[in-house]
Amino acid sequence: MIKPKTEEEIALLRENAILVSKTLAEVGKVVAPGVTTKELNRVAETFIRDNGAIPSFLGFEGFPAAICASVNDVIVHGFPSDYELRDGDIVSVDVGTLYKGYNGDSAYTFPVGEVDEQTRKLLDVTKESLYKGIEAAVAGARIGDIGYAVQSYVEPFGFSVVRELEGHGIGKNMHENPGVPNYGRPGRGTRLVEGMALCIEPMINAGGKAVYLAKDGWAVRTQDKRKSAHFELTIVVRKGQAEQLSTFDFIEKDGKIKF
Ligand code: MG
Ligand code: MG
Repeated sequence: MIKPKTEEEIALLRENAILVSKTLAEVGKVVAPGVTTKELNRVAETFIRDNGAIPSFLGFEGFPAAICASVNDVIVHGFPSDYELRDGDIVSVDVGTLYKGYNGDSAYTFPVGEVDEQTRKLLDVTKESLYKGIEAAVAGARIGDIGYAVQSYVEPFGFSVVRELEGHGIGKNMHENPGVPNYGRPGRGTRLVEGMALCIEPMINAGGKAVYLAKDGWAVRTQDKRKSAHFELTIVVRKGQAEQLSTFDFIEKDGKIKF
């Protein structure tokens, strides 16, 4: 039995969601060829702390940074490093906050400089698949409807859905039940109830779905070395239409980041 959030709890989740959304926009402003992923981490951590919140990823199960910075064939959980971003790369930035006892968690994949047409398509389709998932997340539907919406949108483009990682509930803990897979069958799984707070986060590979864990024990990479994209938003299940708590509007409003 998953307890839906109260409106008071949702208000606190909304504050976190806005903060992670703005943090991603700050990171987006500095993404460019020649910038290290450590610098992206510094920008995010500074912004989060300046806003009175705690970067929740730092120290989470031993994770060493405030953001995950996952470049190209790294799907998720990349460590920020001295790697300098190159023209044509993509970098997925995932960030979490802990503020007033509740959590925020969102991710965006940024193009670096000019990316090729196939990569633009991967970013566009992955982000759109997240919105398809959100459309399916209405009261009375089931978890499988979300995964089905993502998968059935993505696969006709020849892209594949990562199976080993999934979205999740969110609240006082960053990861709560239910798990939210990005593949599935309609009408299956946990029933969605008004007030459930969920992070929907498709991880979509340009090539095959096979992945492997890197030697650092964290980074998850594509087996075929092709690129992977990741977009994540936090929503609340409502009747008729989900309420989006986090947003990409802060990132995209000035039109500089487009694909
Ligand atoms: Mg995340
Ligand atoms: Mg998440």
